[in-house]
Amino acid sequence: MRISYVNGSFIPHEQATIHIDDRGTDFADGVYEVIAYKNRKLIDLEPHFARLKNSLAFLHLAEPMNSNTLRTTINTLIGKNKIDDGLLYLRITRGVAERAHPFPSDTKTSLVMTVKEWKKPSDAEYTNGVKVITHPEIRWAWRHIKSICLLPNIMAKQKAADLNAKEAWFVEKDGTITEGSSSNVYIVKNGIVITQPESNDILGGITRKTILNLAQENNIKIDERKFTLTEAISADEAFMTSTSMGIIAVNEIDGKKIPLGTTARRLQGLYESYVNAIGELPQIN
Ligand code: PMP
Repeated sequence: MRISYVNGSFIPHEQATIHIDDRGTDFADGVYEVIAYKNRKLIDLEPHFARLKNSLAFLHLAEPMNSNTLRTTINTLIGKNKIDDGLLYLRITRGVAERAHPFPSDTKTSLVMTVKEWKKPSDAEYTNGVKVITHPEIRWAWRHIKSICLLPNIMAKQKAADLNAKEAWFVEKDGTITEGSSSNVYIVKNGIVITQPESNDILGGITRKTILNLAQENNIKIDERKFTLTEAISADEAFMTSTSMGIIAVNEIDGKKIPLGTTARRLQGLYESYVNAIGELPQIN
């Protein structure tokens, strides 16, 4: 049976509900994380916790519990489910309060968590790359916060789905590509990996951080700078990263073919080895 976590209780998923007045539903007043686990070992837990803490502090949301208790609660939830390779979803909202815009003064933040099977892209997608389309950058200015307010992201992703593409890349009015609707994006030119630097313009992906570390350790050159759609279309390679996809090459942007190359392929191998090695580490409890 699938078990979920709602504010202190582990309960069957079908019965895992939240109150109608939760500020997450009224205002998308909350944050989230998605953390992958392989062989029941969490991948990059510490950076996910660090990003969560940052999102909470930025929005003046109280931590529902300290990191050690959260780690234990996550491991308990994973233990209660029969999923070896999964995605843990964690959402913290400003809790249940009568609907009014200002922060309620005496409301406890709410924490819910679910786990599900980690469905990765297919082998064919990893080998051949995937198609992406672009979408106008219509999001707010604090994109470094992992807010549950994802309406622009889902509209963009749906456009991609309607056009049989894997992802939508957001493009600013000046042509700059920021990131995907749920991924960070990269191009390769003359052997150099180019990607937006961390700022308020993008979500600082945990996979991004790991991939850039792996690139550095393996003498793959990185240039953290903005790039445009025009550059992307004439790039030697393009790829994207996220917790659920890992790293995947892009073979088409808005109908224009992008070559497959060795850089994304190399990084895929390095990332796979990295994830497998984490799986062998003893879990911190
Ligand atoms: N950007 C956005 C907008 C995202 O939603 C995600 C996935 N949550 C990412 C980037 C990739 O982040 P991560 O590698 O931490 O999954």
